[in-house]
Amino acid sequence: MTSPETSLGANAVRVGVVVETPQHSGLLGVLDYLWARPLDAGTLVRVPLGRRVVTGVVWPLDPASTGSMTSATDGDTLALHDLKAVIEVLDGLPALPAPWRKLVGFAAAYYQRGLGEMALMVLPPELRQLDDTQLQRRLKRLDKALSEAPDAAEVPPGVPGGAGADGGAGGPTLPALSEQQAQALEALAQGGAQPFLLWGSTGSGKTEVYLREAQRALDAGRQVLMMVPEINLTPQLEARVAERFAGRRIVSLHSGLTPAQRLRHWLMALQGHADLVLGTRLSVFTPLPRLGLIVVDEEHDPSYKQQDGARYSARDLAVYRARLEGVPVILGSATPSLESWHNALPVAQGGAGRYVRLDMPERIGGGVMPRVRLLDQNHVLKATMGQEPPPLSRPLLEAIAQRTERGEQSLVLLNRRGYAPVLHCSDCGWKSGCPHCSAWRVFHKADRTLRCHHCGFSERVPRACPDCGNQDIQPVGRGTERLEEQLAEALPGARLGRIDADVTRHKGALEAQLASVHAGEVDVLVGTQMVAKGHDFRRITLVAAVNPDAALFASDFRAAERQFALLLQAAGRAGRDADVAAHSEMWIQTWHATHPLYQSLVKYDFAAFAARQLEERQMAGLPPYASLAMLRAEGKTQAAAQGFLEAAALAVQDLIAQAPVNAGLMLYPAVPTPVQRVANVERAQLMIECGQRAVLQRFLSEAQAVWLAQAQQHRRSGLIRWAVDVDPLAI
Ligand code: ADP
Ligand code: ZN
Ligand code: ZN
Repeated sequence: MTSPETSLGANAVRVGVVVETPQHSGLLGVLDYLWARPLDAGTLVRVPLGRRVVTGVVWPLDPASTGSMTSATDGDTLALHDLKAVIEVLDGLPALPAPWRKLVGFAAAYYQRGLGEMALMVLPPELRQLDDTQLQRRLKRLDKALSEAPDAAEVPPGVPGGAGADGGAGGPTLPALSEQQAQALEALAQGGAQPFLLWGSTGSGKTEVYLREAQRALDAGRQVLMMVPEINLTPQLEARVAERFAGRRIVSLHSGLTPAQRLRHWLMALQGHADLVLGTRLSVFTPLPRLGLIVVDEEHDPSYKQQDGARYSARDLAVYRARLEGVPVILGSATPSLESWHNALPVAQGGAGRYVRLDMPERIGGGVMPRVRLLDQNHVLKATMGQEPPPLSRPLLEAIAQRTERGEQSLVLLNRRGYAPVLHCSDCGWKSGCPHCSAWRVFHKADRTLRCHHCGFSERVPRACPDCGNQDIQPVGRGTERLEEQLAEALPGARLGRIDADVTRHKGALEAQLASVHAGEVDVLVGTQMVAKGHDFRRITLVAAVNPDAALFASDFRAAERQFALLLQAAGRAGRDADVAAHSEMWIQTWHATHPLYQSLVKYDFAAFAARQLEERQMAGLPPYASLAMLRAEGKTQAAAQGFLEAAALAVQDLIAQAPVNAGLMLYPAVPTPVQRVANVERAQLMIECGQRAVLQRFLSEAQAVWLAQAQQHRRSGLIRWAVDVDPLAI
């Protein structure tokens, strides 16, 4: 396909191509190249860029049709003979479909990134490395594999009526639907292409609803996109999907795949061979020519928001994409995000009335949620006469011991890994700080290291205090590792297990640990939020949260929302079988037993909790009643980072003053981020708030150019990086 420039001929035409350019290069839009004939938008090409050859996507030259920012080089349009030629066209692939381009264009504009950056970022990394010959080879190999796979013969892609349509011959036997499942499915069938919020208790059978709805879409010859927060945490879901749709082509898409796998799965989706894509946030961009349904499981989960680069929310993009492609989207959760909750509240109740809410309050099989017991630590403190209270107070320890004796399991939740968050010398006051961050290094006893959870810096634990030589340096506070040790002492004979990011670092370790819990080889399972997610434990009758109070007073306005979700998810791990549900309990060890969060939790009253939170947010002018953007900066010094932010705020004052509509815009002062130095880089942020999303959007895209210029100037004074985070999750 390679065509030297000279051979393009007299009919050479101008084609627009987006390539990956850094956000701040000034090239934000579509670049012009030459080719012998017009190319379909969405075609992949290899083009020269500076001295390199890079992969790009053909884009319409009229930027208006993409919803993207215009090119910074507009105005000085180059003459034809000045343009460089496309090097080759990767025409073994179908062009990326128009809705895909629209989605990318929208995401780039909304999240304030370059169009090319966004478009290339969401392609499989390996695809960007291949030339046409290499790609052809991959495609041939894939074709061969597909024609050899037995599934292919049974269910040609796009042909309705795969295995298991109604549990018929050969298919898996489907459970009889509960009444509330049947109602939800009925509403989905009637509702058509709308966003739905499936609000169902943990264990209410939400997954079954997804699977039935997916079945309907598959039977109609459509593709399904099913999104989960973190695939590794939910191996059970993958297994259930595979079992239910045996005979269909199911592919996964997440960052844990090898580059070759990821490319293969993506190609199968684009070519229409894959029927169902099960993936994490990045899968929201999968091109699916026959898309019929999008599911976003655990829609409240923060991992749907990308935390660096283009900081998109896959949940929000899923809703946009569903509307764009005219398909239904189901957002499922027991504790929806307050944004989604508000969107699903009828206007008459003060909500936005944008989503249809489907309620499934009851657990399958008559299981009830465990009874919540608030264990007031103030009483315990009195009882221990001023001594340091033990990790678990006596009544809780006794309750766990009883469970162990009866052969039941307990789950102890502590959302902090490691042995102790800091080591301390009581002689001179030394603490295990990180030399590169404004944070403590965590003591990990298993490998005797002090490890920084922000920059990764790790050292062996010193034998003595590095400052004064005192041999007696002590751990302060408690992480899961220490809790496990202390519980082993306090509960002699009990078999302990632990699940957190440290024990599950190695591939297969999480699965092994989960299997031993399921097999009944563990009496007491200690874990971080990792254990709260999605696992279908059968024999857990007690869940304890031992240190849940910190979130009540955190500065981030979403801390309470997250904590409520975490505690409710954790509670959902208990009592999943009706015969044990009746005596299942959730213990909360707290110093603030009367706090409204806990009072709502006792009643499992998410609606009341949400109503109260929303009221507070409305009064404070916070999302979902206002839109936020965070201007973030990193510098060699804190002054450099803040200096840029202050200059950036000053530089847009004119812009704001120009349009009366901008009166609603509010720029807060520049402040250091909560952990202000990470890996020797100082970080600061400036919050921008506005009652109207559209106004904020327009302001941001106009401000980009101003900030770009400011940033150039501030580079000399130590600015390293800056970015806009639209709809930031962490404040
Ligand atoms: P959720 O996703 O709401 O937490 P699941 O869909 O995982 O709930 O369902 C919980 C359990 O109940 C699972 O083991 C599932 O197989 C089972 N289940 C779901 N629906 C039914 C049903 N209609 N009849 C019997 N069992 C069901
Ligand atoms: Zn010391
Ligand atoms: Zn560090």
